[in-house]
Amino acid sequence: MNCLRLGISKNFNYLTMECRRLHLLKSQAYINGEWVSAGNKAVFPVTNPANDQLIVEVPDMDATDAQNAVSVATNAFQTWKDTTAKERSYILRKWFDMCQKNTDLLAEIITAESGKPLAESKGEVAYGNSFLEWFADTARHIDGEVIQSPWPNKQIILTRQPIGVVSIITPWNFPFAMITRKVGALMAAGCTCVIKPSEDTPLSALAAAELAEKAGVPKGVINVVTASRKNAAAVGKVMCEHPNVGCISFTGSTHVGKILYGMAASGIKRVSLELGGNAPFIVFPSADIEHALDNAMLAKFRNNGQACVGANRFFIHEDVYDQFVEGFKKRIGQKCILGPGTKEGVTCGPLINKMQADKVSNLVNDAVSKGAKPLIGGKFATDIGSKFYESTLLVDVKPEMNIYGEEIFGPVAVCLKFKTEDEVLKVANSTRSGLAAYVFTKDLGQSFRMSRKLEFGMVAINDGILSAAEPAFGGIKESGIGREGSKHGVEEYTDIKYTLFSALDK
Ligand code: ADP
Repeated sequence: MNCLRLGISKNFNYLTMECRRLHLLKSQAYINGEWVSAGNKAVFPVTNPANDQLIVEVPDMDATDAQNAVSVATNAFQTWKDTTAKERSYILRKWFDMCQKNTDLLAEIITAESGKPLAESKGEVAYGNSFLEWFADTARHIDGEVIQSPWPNKQIILTRQPIGVVSIITPWNFPFAMITRKVGALMAAGCTCVIKPSEDTPLSALAAAELAEKAGVPKGVINVVTASRKNAAAVGKVMCEHPNVGCISFTGSTHVGKILYGMAASGIKRVSLELGGNAPFIVFPSADIEHALDNAMLAKFRNNGQACVGANRFFIHEDVYDQFVEGFKKRIGQKCILGPGTKEGVTCGPLINKMQADKVSNLVNDAVSKGAKPLIGGKFATDIGSKFYESTLLVDVKPEMNIYGEEIFGPVAVCLKFKTEDEVLKVANSTRSGLAAYVFTKDLGQSFRMSRKLEFGMVAINDGILSAAEPAFGGIKESGIGREGSKHGVEEYTDIKYTLFSALDK
């Protein structure tokens, strides 16, 4: 184990403690049911963003390792695709049970590498597990169709067949749930996979693989290739372009999504892309303002603002603007408790890495230099650590400021005033992103109008949280292609086969 080797380094005390505590901590990649090093033995560090300390080193795999993993997944597909839906459902259910039992241990790993508060990590495990439970059920309902033939003495049937090997590339903000949401669906469909988790958070993926193995997932069905940012492009290229890969399922930035989509195009590969958002949070005068404020806190500060469905711009009607802003500032002051995720009572952890922290800080500094006002927050909390940014409320934001149009992905709420429904629709839709939108109103007609006219894949009326296993999660425009969760989540990983039975009278 790397952690034992590292235990005699200068970080001795911290590492031995961390290794003892994190029971599901793995320090090797997982290919063909074995825990392995990179072919060239390279490693990279995984650090805790709360204190910048090393947790463990994991293999820094390259294109050759990725090719090997695709071959393994290809072999495993030959048998996994022929299992019955009932068998796949049973194994998924066992994986679900295993993850449920190990909720606390999984949550500790998530908090250690992503920084989120332990309570949120437990919430992520529950959310992630709900996909395994859901797809264990869904596996048994991947049915075909019998179609009326336009010709006499012929019969048409449509069946759904697994697409093959799926390449999964995941981000750091929900390092466990983004795995189960994809892998649960593809396994239900009869596919196998190669996962490349984020370089910031590979440990949750490895812990999930360990529990999958214990649950009886056959070797080769799930493979985890760990790689540093330096190797991400080379590994990603194999995962997109290898001829045996049938589908690329990615959650991450729009920028990287476009690169992967381009590579997938050369092989006419299927893609499932969950990319960046720019969610409007719209409050009309008829809304229950206290309820809207409670939900604003969830929509903005869950995971410290690091969520693609997180509210990015708050559009508040002029009649209730002052009341909303006052209430928001008060709630932020009372409820956003910054600190390491392991500390009791903490509700906001660090930002994931220096790049994200600098991005958030630069957006605020640019806005303030152009006249925006932070009513609370607006700077790093350097006394706690290098990546803690104060929960911030910004007003007087103008279109010429970068923060007006960009996805913030951090704990900064931007409040803007509007007068009419048409005006707010126009501004909210004036983005190339189209993931989630939130509307607060008690006017029934208005809620239907907003649902129809908002150009977003998901609209929540009077709620600040909308993700679950049952509905279809996904965006339009540059926010992505395809849907996750729901019965549609499985369809991403199947092809429709049309079979014609002819000459029935012969
Ligand atoms: P984030 O801002 O969440 O880090 P990214 O889109 O940069 O979003 O990263 C999401 C995932 O995409 C990570 O696993 C990362 O390693 C991976 N990634 C980044 N660049 C590439 C690339 N060129 N090819 C394949 N994967 C990549």
